[in-house]
Amino acid sequence: MICKSTTIKDSKGLLGRLPTLKADVPEFVFIATDNARCPASEVYVKEGDHVKIGQVIGLRKGPFFEQPIHATVSGTMVGYEKHYHRSGKLVNFIKLQNDFKEEWDPSCSPRSDEEIAKLDRKGFAEILKANSSVGLGGSSFPTYVKFQTEAKIGTILVNAIECEPYITADHRIMLEEMEKIIGGIRYLQQAFDCKNAYICVKAKYTDLRQVYGAFLKRYKDEGIKLKAVGNFYPQGWEIAMIRSATGIKIPSGHLPSEFGIVDFNVSTVVGIYDSVKYNRPVTDRLISITGDGIRYPSNFKVRVGTPIRSLLERCGGYKHPEKDKILILGGPMMGASLPSDDCIVTKTVTSVIVLDAEEHKEEPCIRCGSCLLSCPAGLEPKQIMDAVKAMDKKRVKELKPMRCVECGLCTYVCTSHIHVTDYIRRAKTIAKLP
Ligand code: SF4
Ligand code: SF4
Repeated sequence: MICKSTTIKDSKGLLGRLPTLKADVPEFVFIATDNARCPASEVYVKEGDHVKIGQVIGLRKGPFFEQPIHATVSGTMVGYEKHYHRSGKLVNFIKLQNDFKEEWDPSCSPRSDEEIAKLDRKGFAEILKANSSVGLGGSSFPTYVKFQTEAKIGTILVNAIECEPYITADHRIMLEEMEKIIGGIRYLQQAFDCKNAYICVKAKYTDLRQVYGAFLKRYKDEGIKLKAVGNFYPQGWEIAMIRSATGIKIPSGHLPSEFGIVDFNVSTVVGIYDSVKYNRPVTDRLISITGDGIRYPSNFKVRVGTPIRSLLERCGGYKHPEKDKILILGGPMMGASLPSDDCIVTKTVTSVIVLDAEEHKEEPCIRCGSCLLSCPAGLEPKQIMDAVKAMDKKRVKELKPMRCVECGLCTYVCTSHIHVTDYIRRAKTIAKLP
């Protein structure tokens, strides 16, 4: 979502320098039974059943993947409730009442280094699949699938670029989870039999460059290096990052692994470490609650399943309660707008952005060409918009809207305040028609 009804300011600076707060684990947590990739599910527990942290309590099912569902507190299954999911849809959630005993399921026990040393790529993939590891930068793509490639890998990229405005959760992870990041990269090096690993950050983050410049000296013989990339958006887009870090341009329709590259978000790398070393699924994650509409923007380490409303309260509530609000899950460019704050932290929620609404009236297109010049996928957004308006299916298909990465730039730059990206999304739907 690119928000055109407010002014987007980049307030990363101060928030990125504040330490992460630990949010209280609530009495009730909510675990989604399904998500965008897995629309069906089977739940293994019933009302009254006792559960432990990390216990498998169900299975999400999709056309391509299945994902075990894990409890994130110990306590009792007390039923179901509907809440908004990061997709912006109302979804069924399993409701667990916390007994605050923090009892872990016995299956979540540490592996010895000797056991880990014997793992091959397939062995890592099985562990990550069982722990439901997914892209924690927001993609929610199952991690194990990337381990299924048989391609020869020559470069591992860790994406810590976090290029959207406001969000600083990955910045804090970089500063607060350094040992786990190195541990996760070592597992990736072992799994892919690849020594070259680059942690990619924006060049302007001088604090990260200084800290890692000193820290990585310890690992100079292990092939782990920091790579400073451009300061522009959408530098964190996989294809843009790969090009900046390696000079390789991945053509549309091809996978990075075909070019000897695998890439993972830095939060995912920490999740991989916990999954392999401790056999634990992601039960806590770091998220930013930020934006100009919230009183005290903060980064929190929060239990998966926590209601977002409680985190907004922890931030002192809305700065201007009398104004209409725009709530965005994810970044202001690519995130999803929420119809209400009745939403739940899932493991792929990176941030909640609260903005005060300021209406800008949409004007007719003046053919300025800004959207064309800005599109990182080389598309013609204005032409696609025209084809959608004309319901010209043939022309829509010719203009290849499926290559759009929904970065939101065409809307952001539009001088006429047109929600161009919305038209591209509609074009994608049209392009799928027979
Ligand atoms: S068409 Fe898609 S990829 Fe291009 S600028 Fe718009 S949202 Fe971004
Ligand atoms: S940026 Fe907006 S006004 Fe300019 S060509 Fe694109 S749609 Fe038209």
